[in-house]
Formats: sequence, C-alpha cells, structure tokens
Amino acid sequence: MDPGNRRVLLVEDEQTIADVVRDYLLKAGFQVDMAADGFTALKVAASRQPDLVILDRMLPGLDGVEVCRRLRQTMSVPVIMVTALGTEDDRILGLEMGADDYVTKPFSPRELVLRVKSVLRRSVKEFAPEPSVEAAGLELDPASRTVTHNGNPLALTVREFDLLAFLMRRPNQVFSREELIKAVWGWDFGDLSTVTVHVRRLREKIEANPTTPELIKTVWGVGYRFDDTGGGHGRQ
Ligand code: CA
Repeated sequence: MDPGNRRVLLVEDEQTIADVVRDYLLKAGFQVDMAADGFTALKVAASRQPDLVILDRMLPGLDGVEVCRRLRQTMSVPVIMVTALGTEDDRILGLEMGADDYVTKPFSPRELVLRVKSVLRRSVKEFAPEPSVEAAGLELDPASRTVTHNGNPLALTVREFDLLAFLMRRPNQVFSREELIKAVWGWDFGDLSTVTVHVRRLREKIEANPTTPELIKTVWGVGYRFDDTGGGHGRQ
C-alpha cells in the first residue's frame, strides 16, 4: 500500500488534537482532509471520496454516531471512531452504526496511524483476489467486495465483509472470538466485544431471523461457526 495515494478525512472539533493527528498522518504519507463538525464532514466526504474516515464521537451539530450512520447510507468507506475513555456504550454504539474500528481518547497518534494502515490494508486489494464463494443463498465476491443474499445485494462494512468471508471459507469450523479478532482484525489483543457486535450486525443483515440464527451459529462457550446448510429452510 502506498499511503500517498490514500486520502484520509479527519473529523475532529478539538483543534489541537486535529493538528497533531494531521501532522502524523502527513508524515506517514497520507493525504488529509479536515472537518470540525458533522455536517462539514458529510459534505467533505461526498466531494473528496476519502479512503478512510477518522471520526470523533463527540462533535458539534451532528455527532459522530449519526455522521457514521449517514455515511453508511451512501459509502462503504472504512470508519475509525474516536471515543472518550471509558464510554463503552459509545464505542459499541459506534460499532453498531458501522464503524470498522475505534480508538479511545487519550490515544497515541502513532497508534492511530497504525490503526489507519491496518484498516486500509484490509480494505485494499493488494494481491490477486480470491475466488468468489457461495453457500446457503449467500454469494460473496472478493474481487468486487460484494455480497448478495438470494440475489439481493447486501451493504456490508469492510470488517463485516472480511468476517463473513473468513467464516464462509471455513464452513462448519468453530472459531473463538480470540481467533477471529486475530485473523479478521489482525489484532494480537483487543476487546472481544468487537467480534460480538460484528457478528450481531452480520446476523441482522443475513439471517431470516437474527435471534435464531441459522447461518452464523453460536457454539456456547467456544465461539462461532458458519453453517453452510443453514438458512432457506421453512422460509417464506
Ligand atoms: Ca470532540
């Protein structure tokens, strides 16, 4: 990945933080656009088509969660949400609204730049795409990063796509949340609720009834597995 071709939109209303993070991103070779409030962020995102958005949770006007939700309606751009320390509800809410990753304030700008690179690596095809995979009415095409369910296109975020692809390629195998966070997110450690939230979001998009999932099954005390015989039975 050449950072010089990559454009990051930094949405942060605290000028000193914004300046420091911008400098780190520039030093790492990224192109940087800035916005200090939610409405401006949406306008800049639409006109500049960034490759990634760093989005502060607390913003004047339109808060980060709402900005993320609106971005999701029109773009599949990866979002890293920045939340205040200790506000777990905010973080979960951010992930549920479609953020791909998060950092908590106060954060190290160096760490944030590493997260940016990690998320971008996963959203950019750096190698020959893998063949598409089909199971249980789902068809996943890594080349175009599209998924359809019974022929209907699904809007998945970068991490949702990666998680589904990982599970679909390994049907009927059980993976723990630790294994998934390492394989799909590339983190050696991290908050495992990130996996839980993404599984819940995926289920809402692919399961006929998300509360009794037939595709991504929970194996209690162990983790999750993709059941390639699931779904499609007894449905309308
Ligand atoms: Ca703020």
